[in-house]
Amino acid sequence: MKKSLSNQELKWVDTHCHLQLLKHKISEIDFSNIEYLIIPGVDVDSSKKAKEASSSLPIKGYWSAGLHPHDAKKLSTEKEELEVLFSEADLIGETGLDYYRNLSSKDEQKENLKFHLDASKKYKKPIIIHCRDSFEDIHSLISQYHGEFPIILHSWTGGKKWTKKFLDLDIYFSISGIVTYETAKDLQLSVEEIPIERMLLETDTPYLTPVPKRGEDNQPSYVSYTANKVADIKGVSLDELSHHTIANSNTVLGI
Ligand SMILES: [Zn+2]
Repeated sequence: MKKSLSNQELKWVDTHCHLQLLKHKISEIDFSNIEYLIIPGVDVDSSKKAKEASSSLPIKGYWSAGLHPHDAKKLSTEKEELEVLFSEADLIGETGLDYYRNLSSKDEQKENLKFHLDASKKYKKPIIIHCRDSFEDIHSLISQYHGEFPIILHSWTGGKKWTKKFLDLDIYFSISGIVTYETAKDLQLSVEEIPIERMLLETDTPYLTPVPKRGEDNQPSYVSYTANKVADIKGVSLDELSHHTIANSNTVLGI
C-alpha cells in the first residue's frame, strides 16, 4: 500500500515522445506522472506540430526540430525551413543514422547528421540522435563535436562494447521500453554499465510500448514501466532514479 502511494507521487521526464502522432487528443492523455517532456520533430511539418503541441500541454513541454535519417534525402528541400526552426527550437533533432532500414543512402544520412551537428554547435543546443546499426559512423562523427553541446542517443540499443565507447564521449543514453522486452538481454547488460548520471528515460510514443502494455499505442505515463525495469537492473530505488533522471534532463536542457 505504502509503495504504490509513493509510486504515484514519482515524476518522470519523457525525453522522446512523438505526441503529434498520437490519435488521442491532448486532453485525453494522462500526464499525472510526468515532470515534463520533449516532443521531437522528424521533418519540417512534424517539427512545426511539435512546437504547437508543446504549447498546448497541461505540463511543461519542450520541442525539437529535425530531419529523421529515413528522410535524409529530403534535406535539400527542407534545409531552409529547418534553419529557421533550429533557431526557435529547444533542441536539435531527431536526426541520426539508420543503416538497418537504409531509407535514404548512407551519404545522404551522414550529410544530414552533419547539418544538424553544425546547427547544435551554432546555437549551443542539445541534439537528439537516432542510432541504428550505425555505431561506428555515429561515434566518429560526434567525436568531432565532443564537449560542444549535450548529445542524447535516443532509444539506446547498443551492447556493452559501444556503450563503453560512447561513455568516453560524455553522451546521455536515453532508455526506451525496449529494455523491458525479454529479448533485450544485451541492452539490459548495457544499462548495468551506464552510470546513473548519464541516463535518461523515454517512451518514443506512440512506438516501443513497454511490457506489460505491448499491443497498445505507447503514451507518456508508460515511462514508469521502463523506469521500474531500469531501477531493478541498476539496484537503485525508484525515488533515486526519478531524482537523477530529472536532474540529468535538466542539465541537458540547461534549466
Ligand atoms: Zn523518434
